[in-house]
Amino acid sequence: MARYTGPVCRLCRREGVKLYLKGEKCYSDKCPVVKRATPPGQHGASRRKPTEYAIQLREKQKARRYYGVLERQFERYFEMASRKKGVTGEVLLQTLERRLDNVVYRMGFAASRAEARQIVKHSHIEVNGRKVNIPSYLVREGDVVAVRESSREHKRIKELAAAATRTVPAWLSVDPEALRGTVLRLPNRDEIDTPVQEQLIVEFYSR
Ligand code: SF4
Repeated sequence: MARYTGPVCRLCRREGVKLYLKGEKCYSDKCPVVKRATPPGQHGASRRKPTEYAIQLREKQKARRYYGVLERQFERYFEMASRKKGVTGEVLLQTLERRLDNVVYRMGFAASRAEARQIVKHSHIEVNGRKVNIPSYLVREGDVVAVRESSREHKRIKELAAAATRTVPAWLSVDPEALRGTVLRLPNRDEIDTPVQEQLIVEFYSR
């Protein structure tokens, strides 16, 4: 399946916020958003008053890039969210959080969502005891996500679990020793730290 393979720090500079796409580097002072907080390109530093459309577009792009989702799939998530009960923007973010690659990242088994995606695709993860190698798989309440028995000695995964310093959100519980975690419930909006204003995304798609 297609995915973005270009320089990722450029995406953060374009959105003007850290999207945490690079793993360890994102938490260091080498992060380009810290060193050079202007959009990329020759005219990046020039100021222009953004239009309402531009503001909505940027918010949508920011969310899409944060979760590493391509345009078509993001649209599908929006359609799915708009058909469900509840506030569309919040349901959209909740759906994105439920992606298996995001859950693996949130549980601390990967340094970035891109790495989590690779770990899932390389069949290192199981859900409720069954191998799942689809990064977009949506977890449900009560699901148990674990590193598969055959991958427990995987050097990188062990390193990451041992060094995990990120706070695990309250809707998940993790046993780092067992390389296993449980989805206790689906996240509320205030438990999702994604730096987006979801209402602007709803407005973008409602034009
Ligand atoms: Fe690069 Fe990470 Fe900083 Fe984004 S947050 S600019 S991906 S180092």
